[in-house]
Amino acid sequence: MNPDPESLFQYLDQTRQLYGNHLLLEDMRQDDIETLHTDLDLFNQSICNCQKCPLSQTRQNFVFGVGNPKADIVFIGEAPGEQEDLQGVPFVGRAGKLLDKILTAIELTRNDVYICNILKCRPPNNRDPLPSEVEQCEPYLIKQLHLISPKLIVALGRIAACTMLKTKESLKNLRNQIFTYAQIDLLVTYHPAALLRNPNFKKPAWEDFQLIRDKYLRKL
Ligand code: URA
Repeated sequence: MNPDPESLFQYLDQTRQLYGNHLLLEDMRQDDIETLHTDLDLFNQSICNCQKCPLSQTRQNFVFGVGNPKADIVFIGEAPGEQEDLQGVPFVGRAGKLLDKILTAIELTRNDVYICNILKCRPPNNRDPLPSEVEQCEPYLIKQLHLISPKLIVALGRIAACTMLKTKESLKNLRNQIFTYAQIDLLVTYHPAALLRNPNFKKPAWEDFQLIRDKYLRKL
């Protein structure tokens, strides 16, 4: 049942007298978050049955993204792998577990950030995304980013970075620079799967995450 405007006003006034404005603002923030969730959720619902490319025939699940719909930082990988396809959630396999650990090291959790991929469906045998698949799927990513409106995008790995930046540069040359994608700052770092394969990348990757923490988190 919806309260009539007068009793709603009385309730809000009493709450303000009891708890001050802070709680009211907190409540509104929660409402805002729910609205944003709805916008992202509605967008997910509107595209999750996508049949625009042949990956729709082989996927188990459409993998839209997870995390805070108002996140200041969005991490973007290339495409779902086997576990992600099975569970419908990005970065839940071995690489994802490492990403979680790295986030913990800079005092973040999955609920603070947003995590998604360029492709929303798994390429068979985890092959690289095809240009035709990127062409169909990238507009979804851009709309998703506009709904979240983060301060920073972190491209995870060379394929994600080169796809978004339309370049063929090496990952080494792309690190430590601020690019722009969909009018949002973008930094490039190693894919966590690369860190599992080659521990020599861990030190430079840690430097990247410290930069993210120092330049973006402390300012937020
Ligand atoms: N690798 C990616 O790029 N994305 C995932 O979601 C999982 C592994």
